[in-house]
Amino acid sequence: MIMGESALVVFSGGQDSTTCLFWAKQRFNRVVALSFRYGQRHALEVELARDIAKEADVEFHVLDVPLVGQLGSNSLTDKSITIDEVKPENSFPNTFVPGRNLFFLSIAAVFAREHGIFNIVTGVSQTDFSGYPDCRDAFIKSLNVTLDLAMDAQFKIHTPLMWLDKAQTWALADSLGVLDLVRTRTLTCYNGVVGDGCGHCPACTLRRRGLELYLSGKTEIRQD
Ligand code: ZN
Repeated sequence: MIMGESALVVFSGGQDSTTCLFWAKQRFNRVVALSFRYGQRHALEVELARDIAKEADVEFHVLDVPLVGQLGSNSLTDKSITIDEVKPENSFPNTFVPGRNLFFLSIAAVFAREHGIFNIVTGVSQTDFSGYPDCRDAFIKSLNVTLDLAMDAQFKIHTPLMWLDKAQTWALADSLGVLDLVRTRTLTCYNGVVGDGCGHCPACTLRRRGLELYLSGKTEIRQD
């Protein structure tokens, strides 16, 4: 089903946004991937994203937005802070980069508009919600309205993973024919280990549990 001419995918080179990239390829005639360098711990992320975009045969852009990582203290951009292995009670894990999706999606929308693109795809999910408020559906819907008003435009923010858990995200990747690519080429691990990762950080644990559950054959494939 073709949903429109063109779409911009906010693309980090991780499991979720890579799945979204191929989801978008199936639905739009032209797909553009946009990555951000914001001082993340693993600069390798952007290079992996570039490689995957090349393989997917989509146009790839990188924007430098160091400000996003400088505003608050968090373990993804400050190497002197040890990454929380367990989410603290009543607060965000210290991997939370305040406002990250607000900035990324707003910048992406301006960039997209400049390229005549009004469909924006992001891999945020409320289901595996680690407490990040800017991954919630309400935030995305609210921002969509704000972006329309800000630029007098009609954007559509697509969130194909919003209601999927990690096992269902693996199922989606498999149905798009990219399970192996996502498994071996993407970086989700907080310790910067590509593919199956370090095995013990929260991102790896979530990813592995999802994959095991999917491979056990009990996950329904959902595609909207
Ligand atoms: Zn890890």
